[in-house]
Amino acid sequence: MHELSLIASLFEILEAQKAEKGFTKITAIKLRCGVFSGVVPECLEAAFEVYKKDTFASEAKLILEVVPVKFRCRRCQQIETAYDLPFFCPVCQSKDVEILDGTELTLVSFEAEI
Ligand SMILES: [Zn+2]
Repeated sequence: MHELSLIASLFEILEAQKAEKGFTKITAIKLRCGVFSGVVPECLEAAFEVYKKDTFASEAKLILEVVPVKFRCRRCQQIETAYDLPFFCPVCQSKDVEILDGTELTLVSFEAEI
């Protein structure tokens, strides 16, 4: 399950932060999830609920910010966003586009208590 390994990586980052900053528990985690990242938000939430048990993040809330794909038309340089395929330029109808954003899952911020 793809999402479970993503959550495992997330916890590695949080563990490192915990060691560095010395907090005892995490109360909220905010992630930015591109619609083209291949991550299914429901699966990610489910994986998080399973993984967080008996950890310092057991009471943490997961906040997912779903972001659209952002792309630039290679023909006319128009920059657009979209939530669904296919991506094409609304100005010149070209499908020759460069994806700029919306393909990643990133940790935005988290709240912790000492
Ligand atoms: Zn265009």
